[in-house]
Amino acid sequence: MPAKSQTKQRKRRVRTMSVDGIAEAVELMTREYGPFEQERRLDPADEMVFTILSQHTSDTNSSRAYARLMERFGTLEAVAEGTITEIEEAIAPGGLAKIKAPRIKEVLTKVLELNGSLDLAFLREMPLAQAKAWLRQLPGIGPKSAGIVLNFSLGMPAMAVDTHIYRVCQRLGVIEPAVTADKAHDILEAKVAPEEVFNFHVSFINHGRQVCKAQRPLCLECVVSGVCPSRKKFITAKNIKEEGKSVPTGNATARRRTGTGQLPHVPQQEG
Ligand code: SF4
Repeated sequence: MPAKSQTKQRKRRVRTMSVDGIAEAVELMTREYGPFEQERRLDPADEMVFTILSQHTSDTNSSRAYARLMERFGTLEAVAEGTITEIEEAIAPGGLAKIKAPRIKEVLTKVLELNGSLDLAFLREMPLAQAKAWLRQLPGIGPKSAGIVLNFSLGMPAMAVDTHIYRVCQRLGVIEPAVTADKAHDILEAKVAPEEVFNFHVSFINHGRQVCKAQRPLCLECVVSGVCPSRKKFITAKNIKEEGKSVPTGNATARRRTGTGQLPHVPQQEG
């Protein structure tokens, strides 16, 4: 093959899912796992602290840690004035308290230094890119945490790509295989309509947690299997037999997960 066409071939981009295809996938997943109502919102600084508490732990544990933190200190201003040891004791139920306590103290101190208060509502008035940049200057706040704060707390169309969303996007061909999770944020923001960013986020997370799991994706029960280029890799005669299913012909039609509608990034209330 001539060198020129070899270079051309190397440079050829992998075809990714179209904007319409993504919108359809979001609709199918929302029908399956939703609807997603965002009833409770945390204030942005609280969301930021909750995001730190959620790292590498379950929703239940991070919710418990957040509740304990607020019980102990009452306000985030008081948390910012507390010692690292006091914060560590309060958030112990969430795990990794030794790492998370200094992170919380550091980020709150920096916000106070830059802004004079912990009220971050002003971010809503900024253009999205500027609001993201403001948050990204804070210690330990990467594109995912910034996206969660802006989208979940302030209702701005910022994308937050966690491990589930990243995996599902790769398997569905929404992004190219070589794209990193950090780079995926801007790419997805350009592909998803602003008013659909929230639905995209929560439906893809639910899909990743419940069906398109890291180790054994449940492709035979997947509502978007009809448009998934990875299904062939995972659906084998063996797992069809094991799960007692017939060979799927396209999208799964049975609604098996009614009313789950689990919202991430919001503390769960203990019943
Ligand atoms: S078909 Fe399988 S790999 Fe593809 S999105 Fe569904 S569960 Fe994931």
